[in-house]
Amino acid sequence: MTDEEKKQSIDDKLSKVKYIPDEETHLKPDEMQCSLCISKACTYICPAHVYEWDEENQKLIIGHENCLECGACRVACEKKCIIWNYPKGNKGVTFKLG
Ligand code: SF4
Ligand code: SF4
Repeated sequence: MTDEEKKQSIDDKLSKVKYIPDEETHLKPDEMQCSLCISKACTYICPAHVYEWDEENQKLIIGHENCLECGACRVACEKKCIIWNYPKGNKGVTFKLG
């Protein structure tokens, strides 16, 4: 599969999800650990690009409202420091078939 085909496939899948964002983040990494983290694995493992490293402020920016709830960041986190809970109630992501 070419890179373009892979990108279309991900875009296709993302067009089939619906979000009801929770105002409070369900993704809570330990900021101190993030500042010491070498790999910043979360910033490239996440399929929804939820994490971005702000070099100037030495801080992780988290767009929790785009989270697909796949759990990959929790597994990949170098410091195993992400407190991860499902969004409350009916908030978060819903996957549509077809
Ligand atoms: S991989 Fe973990 S420790 Fe590193 S920046 Fe991401 S959340 Fe922080
Ligand atoms: S659970 Fe998945 S989609 Fe959500 S932030 Fe982590 S890697 Fe990204």
